[in-house]
Amino acid sequence: MLVVLVLLATVLMRVAIITAVVYLLLPLGPTCPHCGAEMAAIRNRFFDRLLPALQRRWCVECGWNGIVRRVRPAPTRRTARRPLIPS
Ligand SMILES: [Zn+2]
Repeated sequence: MLVVLVLLATVLMRVAIITAVVYLLLPLGPTCPHCGAEMAAIRNRFFDRLLPALQRRWCVECGWNGIVRRVRPAPTRRTARRPLIPS
């Protein structure tokens, strides 16, 4: 039984490592990896719900299409400016 658990753990670790490597190899953001132009997002309700970290995009300039990592916009947090008080 212990052998089965060890083998199952190694298989799961392999799957996790391959998933992480594939995710890191995907291009990042809305710019085309070939020509650098801004790509159009292709909406797919099922894909967006299943894998929200990924997005399918199509380049209007060169015709490349594929899956890219989605870039979340930076939170626009207003920082209150503290008055400088000399100590
Ligand atoms: Zn392109």
